[in-house]
Parts: sequence; C-alpha cells; structure tokens
Amino acid sequence: MAQNVAQFMDELKAKNPAEPEFHQAVEEVVESLWPVLDKRPEYRSAKILERIVEPERVILFRVPWVDDNGDVQVNRGLRIEMNSAIGPYKGGLRFHPSVNLGILKFLAFEQVFKNSLTTLPMGGGKGGSDFDPKGKSDREVMAFCQSFMTELNRHIGQFTDVPAGDIGVGGREIGFLFGQYKKIKNEFVGVLTGKGLNWGGSLIRPEATGYGAVYFSANMLETRGETLEGKTCLVSGSGNVAQYTCEKLLDLGAKPVTLSDSSGYIYDEAGIDREKLAYVMDLKNVRRGRIKEYADKFSSAVYTPLESGMDHNPLWNHKADCAYPSATQNEINEKDAQNLLNNGVYVVSEGANMPTVAEGVNLFIDAGILYGPGKAANAGGVATSGLEMSQNSLRLSWTREEVDQRLAGIMKAIHQTCVDAAEEFGTPGNYVNGANIGGFLKVADAMMDQGHW
Ligand code: NDP
Repeated sequence: MAQNVAQFMDELKAKNPAEPEFHQAVEEVVESLWPVLDKRPEYRSAKILERIVEPERVILFRVPWVDDNGDVQVNRGLRIEMNSAIGPYKGGLRFHPSVNLGILKFLAFEQVFKNSLTTLPMGGGKGGSDFDPKGKSDREVMAFCQSFMTELNRHIGQFTDVPAGDIGVGGREIGFLFGQYKKIKNEFVGVLTGKGLNWGGSLIRPEATGYGAVYFSANMLETRGETLEGKTCLVSGSGNVAQYTCEKLLDLGAKPVTLSDSSGYIYDEAGIDREKLAYVMDLKNVRRGRIKEYADKFSSAVYTPLESGMDHNPLWNHKADCAYPSATQNEINEKDAQNLLNNGVYVVSEGANMPTVAEGVNLFIDAGILYGPGKAANAGGVATSGLEMSQNSLRLSWTREEVDQRLAGIMKAIHQTCVDAAEEFGTPGNYVNGANIGGFLKVADAMMDQGHW
C-alpha cells in the first residue's frame, strides 16, 4: 500500500500511462485527502482511494457514419462509468477532436466529487467522441449522433447512467441522441438531460452552469462582505457556459469584458452588455460563426488571434477583479495565473473543468485569493440536470423561478460544504481542499456501507 502521495501517484501513473490530465486531477484530490486518511484509517484498510481511481466500467466503441460526400467516416466513442456509490452514473458527453481515454477519465473522476457536492443522488460518469461537430452540416451531426446512440443505448438508462451535454454537445446534439434512443428502446424516459423544453427538459438547464459559477463567486465574495456590483470580469470561451456566465454577471451589476474561442479573443473595454450578448448568442448558437466577428460588429472591441507557441494567453492579462475560465482544461498556465494576480484579479470561479494548471492553483492559494475550483463552482450544471431528472420522475415541470431558486440554494450549500470541510481539516478558506474533502466523504461512506465491490 502506498505510504505517501508520491508513491500513490507513481503506482497510478505506471498503471495508467499516457493520461496526463487524469494524473493531474487525481494528484490534486489525493493531496487534499491524505490528511483525511490519517484521521480515518478505516478508509485506508478498505482501499477506498485505490478503488475510487479505478473506473467501475469503461466502454469503447466504433462509430461509423456517412458524410455529405457519401464517404464513410469512423470515430471512436467512449463512456466512462466511474462510480455509482450514491446514484446512477451522471455526467456529460464531449464531442471534440482532442477527446481520448485520459481526458474522459479525468472528467469522470472530477464528476464523482462534483455530483456528491450537489447534495443530489448522482454517481459520476463522462463520455464522448473525437468527432468534431465544427463545420459539419446538421445532417452529418445527426448521422453521427444516431450511430453513436445505436451502441451507447445498451449501456445507459434512467436508473443506470444518464448522460448530458458538454463541449460540442448542446441542445441540437441531445435532440438527435434522444430521438435515436427512443426509436431503439420504444420508451420515453429521462435517459438524457439537457432536453428541449417541450420534450422533458428543465427550464434553466441551459443557463445553469454559467449562472452557478457566478452564484458561487457571489457566495465567496459574501465571506468578505462584498458583492459583484461594479466588478470587471474576464470570461473565456463563448459557448454555453461563457454565455450564461455573462448573462448572470449583467443581472448582478458586473461588467464582463472578454470572450474567446479556439481562434482568438475579444476585449471590449466598454463592457459586453445585453445587446452585445444577444449578438454573441445568435453568432454562436444559430450562425455557428467565430468570435472575431464581434469586433467587426462592435467598434469598442479589439480582436486578438491566438498564436500557437505563445507562452501565455493575453486574455488573462487585463486589469480586472474577477475571472471566469469557461472554455477548456489547462487554459490558465502558470504565467497566466501570475498575470491575473498582477492585474488585480482576486476572484476566480471556474466554469470549465480543471482550467488551471496545478502550479497556477498553488499561486492562487498562496496569494489567498477567492479561488473556486471547477468541481464546486461549475456544479450548478449537473445539479440542474439532477433537477431535470426529478421533474421527469414526477412528470411535472417547475417554473423558471423555482428552478433558479433551487439552483441558487444548491450553490450556497456547496459553498458552505467547502468552507466547513476546509475549516475542519485545518485549511480555512482553501476551497480546493474543501471541495475535494466535502465531495469525498459522502462517496467514501457509501462505499464503506456497501461492502467490497
Ligand atoms: P461549448 O462547446 O458550448 O463551448 C466551448 C467553448 O470553449 C467554445 O467557445 C470553444 O471554442 C472553446 N474551446 C473549447 N476547446 C477549446 C480549446 N482546446 N482551446 C480554446 N478554446 C476552446 O462547451 P461548454 O460551454 O458546455 O463547456 C465549456 C467548459 O465548461 C468545459 O470545460 C466543460 O467541461 C465545462 N462544463 C460544462 C458544463 C455544461 O453544462 N455545459 C457543466 C460543467 C462544466 P471553439 O468553438 O473554437 O472550439
């Protein structure tokens, strides 16, 4: 049995080679948990840590489909069923060319702790494909989704595994996936979340991750007697999470000034107001264009293309109070983290999953800023998916206000769990330890209760 974190990580890396994102996610959690194991040796003898890093099941499958030229294309599909101790596997599907086993394992691992934090009964999973929806016609996306679900359907179910969206999987894709599931199974059940409003979806689900990340930052600011009113905010990405982060920031009187995509970013010193945000939503969700067009439309904005080989991302190098990374993993490197601190940023609330490298996280913690890690700050998305599952089971729909209130309440509860766990284990104000420990305890105790499986 490993005697320390370094030895545990050596064994994990030997068993799971070439999965750097998975190693990074596990190391951060294990560092937080080691002091917990010292206090609770029964977890150690039951090998909870060794079991929690091993997926319960990994499904890998071929996804053939036909493109608009009549050519056959072949992608790879994956579903990681990580942990079902406290409920059915739950977590998104990602369609992006970078998708591989290690990235999905990191996301599924994070999801276990995040789902536990939400207070709802959901286990952890994640899936996806190296398929790139960008530049594909609607018919091609549908053909791919139907082929993907033709295999995935046999592994999921409302009581087994309930996937949702993530990068590259929005309302359009969930619709095509749900339609194919229903056709194969001949049953109308809540097997996916993020569904359309008139076929089982929940109000506020599209907004939930971004709204939740902003609520979490407001909760953190409240510990210092402050609000978001008048704060200048850097936001990355321009997809689902980024859009609704901006919307809630505007509701609470803050000023978002940046947005990005994988080609570059815009800086709008005058602020991205409601009219400009409506333009972005149309640009990204309907016309499926690039963020560069924002600067052509609004003269107050400057567009900067992202050049490969740069040692930092200039988006993170503007004067601001708060930052909401909402694009992808490791988008804030050590230099970016230092630039944020140098520019006066003292609130970071992660809409994306693991957007900050480990060295950057250490800089934030050493600087004593309000740093909300993704597994706590972006848990509003899956929490509202949980509320969608509840509504499907009840065959009822709650109002917008009711779901938003529940979301705000859940984010507050997650924040309190983080604060309490960090305090109990001797690191007050450290939301990383708070989220990791708070999420872990419930899953570990459930695993203890259920025996060695
Ligand atoms: P979308 O696909 O809607 O948007 C993703 C955005 O990030 C796009 O602007 C995209 O630009 C950009 N992006 C993606 N990959 C890269 C990359 N490698 N480099 C630079 N930019 C990139 O996804 P979401 O908004 O749903 O997800 C964003 C993040 O939030 C992810 O980390 C996801 O895991 C996390 N998250 C999402 C939840 C949800 O409910 N949707 C829930 C919890 C977390 P481009 O169009 O050029 O690719």
